[in-house]
Amino acid sequence: MKSIFHFVDGKEFKGDSKRVSNIYNPATGEVQAKVKLASRADVKSAVESAARAFPDWADTPSLSRARILFKFKELIEKNSDELTKLIVSEHGKVYDDAKGSLIRGLEVVEFACGIPHLLKGEFTENVGKEVDSWSVRQPLGICAGITPFNFPAMVPMWMFPVAIACGNTFILKPSEKDPSCSIMLAELLKQAGLPDGVFNIINGDKEAVDGLLKHDDISAISFVGSTAIAKYIYEQSAKYEKRVQALGGAKNHCVVMPDSDLDQAVNGLMGAAYGSAGERCMAQSVAVAVGNIGDELVKRLSQKVEALKIGPGIDKRSEMGPLVTKEHLIKVKGYVDLGVKEGAKLVVDGRNVRLQGYENGFYIGGCLFDNVTEKMRIYKEEIFGPVLSVIRVKDFNSAVDLINNHEYGNGTTIFTRDGDSARSFTNKIKVGMVGVNIPIPVPMAFHSFGGWKRSLFGDHHMHGLEGVRFYTKLKTITSRWPSGIKDNPEFIMPTMK
Ligand code: NAD
Repeated sequence: MKSIFHFVDGKEFKGDSKRVSNIYNPATGEVQAKVKLASRADVKSAVESAARAFPDWADTPSLSRARILFKFKELIEKNSDELTKLIVSEHGKVYDDAKGSLIRGLEVVEFACGIPHLLKGEFTENVGKEVDSWSVRQPLGICAGITPFNFPAMVPMWMFPVAIACGNTFILKPSEKDPSCSIMLAELLKQAGLPDGVFNIINGDKEAVDGLLKHDDISAISFVGSTAIAKYIYEQSAKYEKRVQALGGAKNHCVVMPDSDLDQAVNGLMGAAYGSAGERCMAQSVAVAVGNIGDELVKRLSQKVEALKIGPGIDKRSEMGPLVTKEHLIKVKGYVDLGVKEGAKLVVDGRNVRLQGYENGFYIGGCLFDNVTEKMRIYKEEIFGPVLSVIRVKDFNSAVDLINNHEYGNGTTIFTRDGDSARSFTNKIKVGMVGVNIPIPVPMAFHSFGGWKRSLFGDHHMHGLEGVRFYTKLKTITSRWPSGIKDNPEFIMPTMK
């Protein structure tokens, strides 16, 4: 059985913990590897390595740091097939989708290659007589990232390329469900010339996370995962005096206006609700049918949901792969059972899908609910599976109120051909990432990613300028060179005369 260890000081690190967790192949249900779960002492070793590497790395010219990232970018491209296969084998999503997610991560590396431009400070000559003032952005020190299972390459790459390009050292704690891709990224960074200790990986669960949160030498925590844990990370980071950005769960609404191009809306919804088996924080899990569009929308959706091709992610014909674990499959099926009990109409039932030769895989077919209401738990809670709920509202304003009253505010989209509705929607909606006729409005690397309300705790979104601000602290220097000036003591606030 393959064992997956940590990566510290530029090499595999076995650590002293004996605890392990199973890594499954979701397509077959088999255990394919065991991953080590770090102890507090293992976390301490990683922090010591990152601390040793920090002073030299922070002093390395930003262009030299960026050049290592350029090499890293080339290595990711060269090894993209292998990285993609690692994602497919541990997460379960289909190959092309996994490849797409790797590329979205690569785009953050491309962004980080240009960071020298963004680390330039500001300068004002003569803020006072012969006094100059300037500001610089300096690295924080050791930063840590804690990431979810659903994007094993992309979400870590929202964080570490920006952090290390800004001169920080980094410790990643990937999801214990699919850690192999991160280990390979660490090896590629080393090949690219990254000094040992600048990027480390600690595998583990709550014990490793708590070790990071409580360690005095860690300056900042970036987290992506479920809302309950995001809130915990936010509170603990504040308690232990760390800068924090903690991105949480979601319930994304897709508004379908009566004037929309219905084919475009249905195709957009299919990809956004069932792509990656709904295991995306930007999945559209609620379709809001406005006015009289509901019947036709449900009819067209149901035909397509029934025709979805379910299969192992590595099979190029599959449109939707399995869920990540059996535990998660049971949870998602439980929500479908609950929806039926709550009185929603289950138009397409994917609970009984069985694939010949893959009987033990974690598969569920696409599920479609109609007549869902605001009071139902299947509407309020994040299901994180291929389950789309259609909720009917009478008009545009009711759709906006519905979304604004929801506890989550990650992403949302409106399908319409009316500019007035589109503009009003983008202006009024209380959500961080908004699409107009774009089913999954994930911002590019040079913009920033983040939700509102209980989808993000903290002040900064990820990557783009927000990422640079998060991973640097501002210092402002005011200076005067004495040239025969004789100062008397001044006991009042200096002001401009
Ligand atoms: P999760 O919250 O279970 O785990 C995320 C990370 O937290 C993992 O590394 C895990 O080891 C760690 N963790 C789990 N329990 C912990 C505990 N009790 N104490 C400390 N650490 C703990 O999330 P997941 O199931 O891996 O991922 C799915 C969730 O992530 C969904 O809710 C999804 O919406 C969310 N997500 C959000 C975004 C976003 O950008 N907002 C992006 C991707 C995923």
